[in-house]
Amino acid sequence: VAGCIFCGIVRGEIPARIVRSDDDIVAFRDINPMAPVHVLVIPREHVASLNHVEAEHAGLLDRLVAVARDVAKAEGVSESGYRLVVNVGPQAGQSVDHLHVHVLGGRDLAWPPG
Ligand code: 5GP
Ligand code: ZN
Repeated sequence: VAGCIFCGIVRGEIPARIVRSDDDIVAFRDINPMAPVHVLVIPREHVASLNHVEAEHAGLLDRLVAVARDVAKAEGVSESGYRLVVNVGPQAGQSVDHLHVHVLGGRDLAWPPG
């Protein structure tokens, strides 16, 4: 989608530190990391948020979560612990309207989150 930062990263027009990429998913390091491990996992297809996932996206959420889990393992935080976060909408602080799963780890993570 025009003007979408993450679509720009998917197309290679905006530089990013990509850690994993397959036919329908790309994972890259967050530009403003909130933890030693902070990777964003996104679908190549533009989906504005979790609220916009439809039946036509069958299997997409499974794959996103599985890739996030694999990224955590590759980043070495599988055993120490990590958190997946999906911010949806203004009160959750969603700032990029392209569905993304945060993979956070490498330090103690507060609970409940802010
Ligand atoms: P949200 O707040 O929507 O859940 O998360 C958006 C995330 O995208 C933020 O953590 C922010 O740092 C990250 N981000 C925003 N713009 C860019 C960018 O151009 N490149 C990368 N790698 N991350 C970005
Ligand atoms: Zn997009």
